[in-house]
Amino acid sequence: MHAASVPEQLRSRCYCPSCGGELTCAETADPLAICLACPSDHRFFVMPEGPLAVETAKAASAHFPELEHQEPEQVAAFWLSDSVARSILNEQLAELLRVILEARSTSNSLPLSYCPICGGGLSEYEQPDIWVRGLRCSHGHSWAERGGRLGSVLGSTGFALRAEPSESVVRQLVSGWLKGNPHLDTNLHRSVRQVLAASIFGRGAA
Ligand SMILES: [Zn+2]
Ligand SMILES: [Zn+2]
Repeated sequence: MHAASVPEQLRSRCYCPSCGGELTCAETADPLAICLACPSDHRFFVMPEGPLAVETAKAASAHFPELEHQEPEQVAAFWLSDSVARSILNEQLAELLRVILEARSTSNSLPLSYCPICGGGLSEYEQPDIWVRGLRCSHGHSWAERGGRLGSVLGSTGFALRAEPSESVVRQLVSGWLKGNPHLDTNLHRSVRQVLAASIFGRGAA
């Protein structure tokens, strides 16, 4: 898997979708992701292209003897950084492991009101995809918003900024994984389940 990258248009300068402040690179526990933060500490992430579902379905049955007797933090860091483990790690689980390792989330979802390319105000516009909210600035940069993810096509490649998820969203996601279903279970290795269950977001869940 390749590390995330920021497209040309945003490399010299980009803006916080929540407040319009300038985004600069910040530290993150995910070695393949890029964290961008503004002076008000609103954080956004560019994730690497995740593995295909056929790969992530191999995670539950994978063997990693090196994970025996490891602390949850070590297990989470291993899954994010080991190339074999990462190549079968579900993208949403990667996000949750990062949130758990960094021990932070926001109390509320971040608003997405400013264009990352020019910092101009975004307003909603009509577009055919009912699953996303279409947002556009006065320079015609258009974005599709869904669940805290602001996506666009820049040049010929897709690009998305993900807002730091709110605590309630993280709790919901963790509880969904712990509750399990036939589609999720194949993606969830025992060691990752333990990390989720032991985290502050998983306590009290199934
Ligand atoms: Zn901001
Ligand atoms: Zn713009």
